[in-house]
Amino acid sequence: MKRIQGWGNTSTDYPVPEPARAYLENVVGKPHRLKNVEIEQLIRKIPEADLPSHPRITTDHEERLRHARGQSLNDWIDMYDGLVNTFPDAVAYPQSDSDIRDLLKFAEKHQINLIPYGGGSSVTGHLTPPGEGLPTISVDLAKMNQLLDLNENNLEATFGAGVSGPQLEEQLKQHGYILGHFPQSWEYSTLGGWIVTRSVGQQSYHYGRIEPLFVSGHLECPAGPLDILRVPKSAAGPDLRHIILGSEARMGILTQATMRIRPLPEAEHFYSAFFPNFEIGAEAVRKIAQAELPLSMVRLSDAMETETTFQLSGEEKLVSLAKKGLNLFGQGDQRCMLIYGLTGSRAENRLADRRLAHLVRSHEGMMVKFYLGEAWMEKRFLTPYLRNTLWDLGYALDTLETALPWDKLPESRTAILDVIRDGLEDENEPVLVFSHISHVYTNGGSLYITYLYRRAQDPHHTLERWQKLKTAASQKIVELGGTITHQHGIGIDHKPYLPAEKGALGMHIMEKAILEADPHTIMNRGKLMDIK
Ligand SMILES: Cc1cc2nc3c(=O)[nH]c(=O)nc-3n(C[C@H](O)[C@H](O)[C@H](O)COP(=O)(O)OP(=O)(O)OC[C@H]3O[C@@H](n4cnc5c(N)ncnc54)[C@H](O)[C@@H]3O)c2cc1C
Repeated sequence: MKRIQGWGNTSTDYPVPEPARAYLENVVGKPHRLKNVEIEQLIRKIPEADLPSHPRITTDHEERLRHARGQSLNDWIDMYDGLVNTFPDAVAYPQSDSDIRDLLKFAEKHQINLIPYGGGSSVTGHLTPPGEGLPTISVDLAKMNQLLDLNENNLEATFGAGVSGPQLEEQLKQHGYILGHFPQSWEYSTLGGWIVTRSVGQQSYHYGRIEPLFVSGHLECPAGPLDILRVPKSAAGPDLRHIILGSEARMGILTQATMRIRPLPEAEHFYSAFFPNFEIGAEAVRKIAQAELPLSMVRLSDAMETETTFQLSGEEKLVSLAKKGLNLFGQGDQRCMLIYGLTGSRAENRLADRRLAHLVRSHEGMMVKFYLGEAWMEKRFLTPYLRNTLWDLGYALDTLETALPWDKLPESRTAILDVIRDGLEDENEPVLVFSHISHVYTNGGSLYITYLYRRAQDPHHTLERWQKLKTAASQKIVELGGTITHQHGIGIDHKPYLPAEKGALGMHIMEKAILEADPHTIMNRGKLMDIK
């Protein structure tokens, strides 16, 4: 069963090994042991709904609680510490386009705000009901999860937009195909959520981000349906796919989408390499990206992330042995780990691997072909469960991301990490912060930053700490000319920084487009941008 507090299902845990606890205490201090608020207590906070009846909606309190928040750190503080104070008034489970059209009419007639709900994995506040103004219905797409059409000639598959990562790949695998979109939230996140938040899967370097995978779709808007013509490419004016991509439910509900698929690959491998420091590693990664090597992923951790990964593995003996070996080959304390993936035919993979090894060695790097890459692969959807365990231990963990051109990336990284590391200096509270480059392009890369600090005795104080760190980092990203988000979207948390990226006219064009599709603004109010 899906957890109400924290990430994932209730039967999976990722324990923090004892030596890792000592490491964390050493870096950020001994945590306070804090109690979580009981779920029953949260349910008791939910007011009775006051909505006209409708055959597809339920006002059950647990259902409303389950749809009240996503996975951003402030969502966690709300749900774990009982600060949650806005709930959808009802939850709907449509099964077809006509159910959705009916819900849109109902919402327009009774002035109800609709928030589509995919996997609930948003990390930027996309799902929070506004709490004032209109009542809210959360529209859960879970029942629209089927493969609707498979066109093997064109290598295209059409799915209901509520299909989750595992459901989608399972249905394709039966026919010998793969979409290959693997965000770390894959276990729960959905096709509709990926498209409207412009998500990026871990193997984007081979399979592509969601944008090139998205061929066409059907959006039910309050003003009527929007269909994208199913052709490989069109020069007929602006590309309307890009009005759906990133729309964050402001224009309507995506009910189905046609995606580019591929035959299952012949072989897939994940390996690692090390560089003596981040600057050298980043330079090698730039060369790898610009050589357009046929890899499926490249992920370069900085020295702190490399060390923390070692510590959290719990493999004390192995780690100590590995460090000795790495030291001997010039990979000392500032060592940075590269994980890379090969996906394709065996011959292609061998060739790509040889070319990569050449580039690694010519940048003082060292190839490590055993254990680390495969271990990363095996745990890639398990790692998010660590956040649950850390929370229970008394640590709050959050991530943020940006993308920058190569000529700015290394220095910008240092500047962003510095403001986070020093962000709680006024209360003498240390912050553990580390980063990796994870999606690369010929002209730049994305930077993914993780930070961890101690939860305070008072949850409002934990929230205040998060606000300080998030604001400092976001302002620094904007000042450096980075995007406020490479893959997580805007939601509420990134909304203040959108005008800096889009400009006044850009914001105006977006607002007009939203109002054309949703003239009475009943779709996901208050997210992405404020509409007067
Ligand atoms: C542990 C973890 C790891 C993550 N890793 C990644 C990652 O590797 N890459 C990445 O890009 N992101 C990642 N994310 C962020 C998140 O998973 C993505 O933003 C994802 O695309 C959200 O999909 P979802 O189905 O869960 O959408 P939800 O969270 O349910 O909704 C997000 C937004 O999309 C809207 N929406 C959902 N479905 C529809 C629809 N059918 N029609 C219209 N609007 C809709 C919602 O109203 C909301 O505004 C991660 C999050 C977590 C918690």
